[in-house]
Amino acid sequence: MINSYGTGHLAVKCFYSDNYSFPLPEGHPFPMHKYADAAMHLVDTKVIAATDLIDPGLAEEDDILRVHTSEYLSAIKNGSLPPQETRRMGFPWSERLYVRARAAVAGTIAAIEAACEEGNGCNLAGGTHHAFPDRGEGYCVLNDVAIAIRKLQARDKDIRVIIVDLDAHQGNGTNFILKQDPNIYCYSIHVGANYPSRKFEGDQDIELDRWVTGDDYLRRLKETLPIAVERFKPDLAIYLGGVDVHEDDRFGQMKLTTEDMRERDLFTMSLLRRQSLPLATVFGGGYNKDRALTPLLHCQTVGLAAHIHRGQLNIEV
Ligand SMILES: [Zn+2]
Repeated sequence: MINSYGTGHLAVKCFYSDNYSFPLPEGHPFPMHKYADAAMHLVDTKVIAATDLIDPGLAEEDDILRVHTSEYLSAIKNGSLPPQETRRMGFPWSERLYVRARAAVAGTIAAIEAACEEGNGCNLAGGTHHAFPDRGEGYCVLNDVAIAIRKLQARDKDIRVIIVDLDAHQGNGTNFILKQDPNIYCYSIHVGANYPSRKFEGDQDIELDRWVTGDDYLRRLKETLPIAVERFKPDLAIYLGGVDVHEDDRFGQMKLTTEDMRERDLFTMSLLRRQSLPLATVFGGGYNKDRALTPLLHCQTVGLAAHIHRGQLNIEV
């Protein structure tokens, strides 16, 4: 783990709230601990200063309603979601579920604002790319990135945004919501045969075989992302740095090592920042068999974002 921001550091705002977590039944596969663990680790190892950790509050319902239906919102607020829809979402209903989803959306909105103002911003949650306007699935309740983009467009309708989704799974919900928008470019690398079984086409879908190695993954990334960025000419980039690409992940079906992931993050964020693009980073998935490793892998991404922002890494891409 790289660390040490030193004195007079150039801050990278990281958005975090205790509301990012809520209690799950014993044995539930979702690693709800990862948010608090990552936030604590980033401060303890001096990757960020404690003052860079900011509570984003809760997203406004008016902002959420730019993407989600009022019927769906009422159901997750009131606990009236049909049982099959609750199962598809993957979380049991509780009052905290909606609070948690609103907090995570607020974090992504705030990270994008910080990126627009200062070049960089990180949400220590978010990337819930399987959420559709009228339903959630795959541990995703609200689509934070789509909501944040619609809010941004409300004040800057022509802004061009590239979503670089390197979570192991395709962002089917995000593509469904944003695909028709010519100002949004959805770029994704994922395992074609993995969840979700029904995919919605993005602007660039790079489908890899199951158990892809780091070498093959990184080659495809380096062949395609620079061209996508150069052609689309975005004003803002959003990076979903899902850590479920790791070789020991329970669901990702990829074989990247921790070092491969470091190269993935470094290449991607260096490329985007070299274009002087504002860059917002969000977590995405991560379900490592070693539960302690998941938050550390997210910290690796945030640590690299901070170092690139401060110009402390000079990596050729
Ligand atoms: Zn995933």
